[in-house]
Amino acid sequence: MPAIEGVLESGQLFLGPNTRAFEEEFAAYCGSRFAVAVGNGTDALHLALRAAGVGPGDEVITVSHTFIATVEAIDQVGARAVLVDVDPRTFTMDVDQVEQRITSRTRAIIPVHLYGRLCPMDELLAIAQRHGLLVIEDASQAQGARDARGRRAGSFGNLATFSFYYAKNLGAYGEAGAITTSDPDLDRKLRLFRSHGEEVRYHHAVLGFNCRPDEIQCAVLRIKLRHLDDWNARRVEHAALYDELLADLPVVRPELVASGEHIYHQYVIRSPRRDWLQAQLAERGVGTGIHYPIPAHLQPACRDLGYADGDLPLTEDVAREVLSLPMFPELSDEQIEYVAASLETLLRPEASAA
Ligand SMILES: *Cc1c(COP(=O)(O)O)cnc(C)c1O
Repeated sequence: MPAIEGVLESGQLFLGPNTRAFEEEFAAYCGSRFAVAVGNGTDALHLALRAAGVGPGDEVITVSHTFIATVEAIDQVGARAVLVDVDPRTFTMDVDQVEQRITSRTRAIIPVHLYGRLCPMDELLAIAQRHGLLVIEDASQAQGARDARGRRAGSFGNLATFSFYYAKNLGAYGEAGAITTSDPDLDRKLRLFRSHGEEVRYHHAVLGFNCRPDEIQCAVLRIKLRHLDDWNARRVEHAALYDELLADLPVVRPELVASGEHIYHQYVIRSPRRDWLQAQLAERGVGTGIHYPIPAHLQPACRDLGYADGDLPLTEDVAREVLSLPMFPELSDEQIEYVAASLETLLRPEASAA
């Protein structure tokens, strides 16, 4: 691939021209002033919290139904994660619960645009404004999702974080991440923190971290970014076909939203017979996923947060029932029809025998 060869020939393997160009292109794409590329999405969350000055004694409200990295990053800066339930129709943050859990220690809210679907950002931003809180979007699964006014994930919060883990809608050939912001002061802090607090080589303004992105990954991401809208559009089409074919089956499908607000990183159905369905689909050659089987508040790693079984009942129901069907841009209609026919045979055997 010429872009990768170009990097190898240049010998500049990090913080070179591809990183700078990708940062500009990605910021423009998201509709934010700045983007700072880092090594992965977990580093992006960690540095966003750090740049925002969140630390010991602070509370950060987020959801339990997310990938564990969201909670890990809060712990990494010494703050405490306060976990709220999801809206079981959208799988994203229950906005009413957010407001109930605000205390004098709350500093920030991290909405997670889970499965590629935007959280209700207008409501969340209004709450944050009323209480003087920061908003940090975890947009790791929502690169390119946009609301009815065309505003994209990454442009709503004070900061937003992205993962370019290879399996995300925009994925590197390995690992990468980024933070977007429109605040020049936060942008400067993020740049310092990601590379040992250096402004000039071996001159350290603050003690930072090594969270630099690979120049090769940024070269790959620049090329893939040009295809992202096409790829997302294909996912939306696949989701529409699943919706049509599964309409009469006894499973809960994703709630329909305005076009663009959901870019279907995952197409997730719910069924009380989830584990059985997954095993039966596997026998028919259909690979599925469970995102995520154990919510953060019930993970052994999070025992110190003090939650118990039953504390977030909707999240716990969701974790028992969610099943992610095959979803990627290259999926064919025939493959989707095969998945739907398999589900029909399993869930309505009398109908398919007739
Ligand atoms: C993937 C992901 C992350 C972490 O990203 P990495 O690049 O794997 O470190 C964080 N939050 C969410 C919601 C994710 O899906």
